[in-house]
Amino acid sequence: MHVYDAVVIGAGQAGLSASFHLRRLGIDHVVLDANPTPGGAWQHRWDSLSMDDVHGVADLPDSPAPGRGRDRANNVIPGWFGDYERAHALPVVRPVRVDRVDKAGDLLVVRAGERSWTTRTLINATGTWTRPFVPSYPGAETFLGEQLHTVDYPGPEHFVGKRVLVVGGGASAVQFLGELAPLTDVVWVTRRPPVWRQEWGEHAGRDAITLVQQRVAAGLPPASVVSVTGLGLRPQEQEAARLGVYDARRPMFARIEPDGVRWADGSFEAVDVILWATGFRPAVTHLAPLHLRSPLGGIALESIGKDVQTAVTAVADRRVQLVGYGPSASTIGGNRAGRAAATAVRRYLGVGYGDPT
Ligand code: FAD
Repeated sequence: MHVYDAVVIGAGQAGLSASFHLRRLGIDHVVLDANPTPGGAWQHRWDSLSMDDVHGVADLPDSPAPGRGRDRANNVIPGWFGDYERAHALPVVRPVRVDRVDKAGDLLVVRAGERSWTTRTLINATGTWTRPFVPSYPGAETFLGEQLHTVDYPGPEHFVGKRVLVVGGGASAVQFLGELAPLTDVVWVTRRPPVWRQEWGEHAGRDAITLVQQRVAAGLPPASVVSVTGLGLRPQEQEAARLGVYDARRPMFARIEPDGVRWADGSFEAVDVILWATGFRPAVTHLAPLHLRSPLGGIALESIGKDVQTAVTAVADRRVQLVGYGPSASTIGGNRAGRAAATAVRRYLGVGYGDPT
């Protein structure tokens, strides 16, 4: 039986960065990815999301990110990831959907159906895309229209002639409203009033990430980085803003009825579609046998350095690193976390391990 020094689960930005740095350090590893082709979650994003529409994609180690433009992000980024895997001969095996990871004394066993990989350490880089979150509201099952989540977004043309209720206070909701409002009738509801970003810069970004990091260090479930950075309107959203869509936001309704939604005060909106832009949860159910969760419901992570984005090591089991989780759930964060995780793995395996000297 071959025992790997590290197994990486997930080949998105965070997993590829981790694999690059493991390879650089000479650490024997394999990357297991559920998708049939390269691209991480980007390959599943909607066709109308162009490189001009993404908020910004960070470079991978040793490879600059593709430029902006009208080309589809779900083509450009997977193409870039595929080239990267080949250029760096990263040991990605796919499609492999990991079901569970078990402890076996000093080792960990990563299982996917009948197949298994035994390893000394684990880097989990599974993102959130496979765990869409839809809150439950009374009457949801009675709704006669269509209910979609961000993962199902078919592009704006699908909604023409339909009255669409967009639910959620994050970047995806703002973006959907920007696309839909010029084409069709929309209503926006959020749980809390949206917080619009006044200014943005390196300091504000770091402060926001520090807030998420503090939650993760305490063992709380991570908040999305956008929930602490606030929302911004880009040129793409100006037409919707001019139409007053963002100002006409309503608080959450109380229940769903067959033809629409009703608020606690009795008011009613008839809608044809409910678009749940209500976010995601970390895709970590396969780690449940490792009992990494704190009593507060999150996985507490600690850092080996001072940089808050390098908090990747599970406090409950230092063999396990989580990248793209909490403060590192962005392309830039995933990148840095990949490096930190490889460094932590080397440290766990022993001083001098993998030193080029
Ligand atoms: P992913 O890209 O999700 O990759 C995870 C990989 O793990 C996938 O290939 C998946 O198949 C695999 N996987 C999952 N579970 C398993 C399993 N059990 N076994 C095996 N493999 C598994 N961030 C930015 O920085 N800039 C942006 O412009 C931006 N836009 C975004 C737009 C949307 C709509 C969303 C939802 C997020 C956006 N983000 C953006 C956040 C960003 O996409 C992510 O933080 C980052 O790309 C995630 O990279 P990742 O490597 O953590 O995960």
